[in-house]
Amino acid sequence: MKSVLRILQATRELNRYYLGIIVCAVLTSATALLSPFIIKGATDTVVAYLGGDQSRGVDVIIWFAVAYLAAQLFNTLFSNIGGYLGDVMSQKMRTMLSVRYFEKLLVLPLSYFDEELTGTIISRLNRTIMEITRFIQMFSNTFASLLITTVSVLVISGIYYWPLAVLLIIIFPVYFWLTSRTSVKWQVWEGEKNKDIDVASGRFNEVIGQIRVVKSFGQERRELGLFRKLFFRTVGTTAQQSRYWHKMDIYRLAFLNIVFFILYLIIFVRTMNGDFSIGDMVLLIQLMGMAVQPITSLSWVVDASQRAIAGSKDYFEVMERPVDARALELTRGEESAQKPREIRAEVGEELIRFNNVTFGYEGEDDVLHGIDLSIKRGEKIAFVGESGGGKSTLMALLEGLYDPRSGSVTVDGMDIVDGDLEQLRSQIGMVFQDASLFSGTIAENISYARPNASEKEIREAAIKANADKFIRGFKDGYQSIIGERGLKLSGGQKQRVSVARAILKDAPILILDEATSALDTKAERAVQKGLDELMEGRTSLIIAHRLSTISAVDRIVTLRDGRIDEVGTPAELAVSGGIYAELLGLQSGSKADKKRLK
Ligand code: ADP
Repeated sequence: MKSVLRILQATRELNRYYLGIIVCAVLTSATALLSPFIIKGATDTVVAYLGGDQSRGVDVIIWFAVAYLAAQLFNTLFSNIGGYLGDVMSQKMRTMLSVRYFEKLLVLPLSYFDEELTGTIISRLNRTIMEITRFIQMFSNTFASLLITTVSVLVISGIYYWPLAVLLIIIFPVYFWLTSRTSVKWQVWEGEKNKDIDVASGRFNEVIGQIRVVKSFGQERRELGLFRKLFFRTVGTTAQQSRYWHKMDIYRLAFLNIVFFILYLIIFVRTMNGDFSIGDMVLLIQLMGMAVQPITSLSWVVDASQRAIAGSKDYFEVMERPVDARALELTRGEESAQKPREIRAEVGEELIRFNNVTFGYEGEDDVLHGIDLSIKRGEKIAFVGESGGGKSTLMALLEGLYDPRSGSVTVDGMDIVDGDLEQLRSQIGMVFQDASLFSGTIAENISYARPNASEKEIREAAIKANADKFIRGFKDGYQSIIGERGLKLSGGQKQRVSVARAILKDAPILILDEATSALDTKAERAVQKGLDELMEGRTSLIIAHRLSTISAVDRIVTLRDGRIDEVGTPAELAVSGGIYAELLGLQSGSKADKKRLK
């Protein structure tokens, strides 16, 4: 329950809604409770009338009927106002919780996303927040007023004849006990089900995202089978859950009905004894009827509360994950200046320094060992080595996506662990192997880093990226919508859009992570033209598989098993007999082989 209270505390802004809802609940209950008294008054009048007391006749009965109508109308009015407040409040709560959750995800370290599947994260977000808000809404829309009604019924029936109240009171703890016992077991099953659903959703998301791979490997049947198995398992679990729930429900209702049997017996016998008037009897029977609803709804409130508790635990589990305080700046506060801070280092002076850097991913062994490297402003430096050697990891450290285990990375003399992440990232442009475009127009994609860029600026960037021509070839030009991840563009076109995006960002440091590796020679050439333009005057760090693309760099660094193997100019390394020379031999060898085959 503590975690639900924490949710309420976290959404304190909604307090006036809670207050409004409680006021409506009190008024709803009060008007609901008036009706039995009006009926009692009318009944007593009728009985007296039939008994010969004609002092109060039909006119009085009409007044009772009018009062009844008024009470019902007000009851409807208050309960609907309360319902409205509850709906708005719960959607506000849902919005607040979702926004905070999303903000949290945005600032969580990358390592969190290394561990979890996207679909799983989304599925969990939806479920936890839905269950929390559903409980709060349910509680405010119905249970609050039912609770007040119950207490009033207890008091009134206690005033009439105390054993009635005692019997009613007994029902609650027994009912609560039976329900919470059921609920604890229910939760375990629910947890199993949620796990299956989260895993299935995670996989679902991956499969749909990579539908072409699935199709080309002919794995539709297997993927469907896996999905079906996980989901069908939830049917089995639900059946078990439901059997148990309904078995307990039979016990609960049997108990409830036995108590009510005694209650009604008491009411009738005491009326026959003359202790209660006919009106009292009618009143009490109605009150008992009013008490049944809260008692039976107790079970679903307990159930909903248990889910909300589980949901809020999951919620806080994510919300409490540590984040770098600097990361929070990326979603809060003012956006810093659009243009990156001027770099102080002059061309030819040291701009980036890896200082004895050692790094390993969370819970894993080191993948970079004692990296020492100094990169000058304006330098073009390529990173070469077997895959898994640590090239991408090194770039991730430079971007401040992970912190080194030991040693430091400095940019323009500033240790990036102490620096402003927004500033740092504004100084780095990236072109990834996979163009990673968003759905939306081409113009929106190019201006992703600078949403306020003018059409002219966007076009200039595209021209430099060698992309303007093909973009203008589309019917809608720059306003052409590209599908999710840019499905309608070819690999080379997408990559040229992403080069334009980097050109428009205009950052002084550039990382090209295998930017042309996925392309054929012709597309590569088209992209390379754009890349050359992009690299012009920028400090460029280039990861490349194809050595032909890096022959013009100033220096090459070779990495082997997370260690720097060699550093030198292409000419030096070509004859040093190291990895570069080896790869050079392999790649030109394969060309020679191909020629021979022809
Ligand atoms: P390269 O870019 O040279 O191919 P990487 O930097 O991608 O090499 O990988 C270096 C090592 O780190 C590899 O052993 C790889 O398995 C590991 N690695 C890369 N990314 C992650 C990650 N997100 N979580 C855990 N290990 C990783």
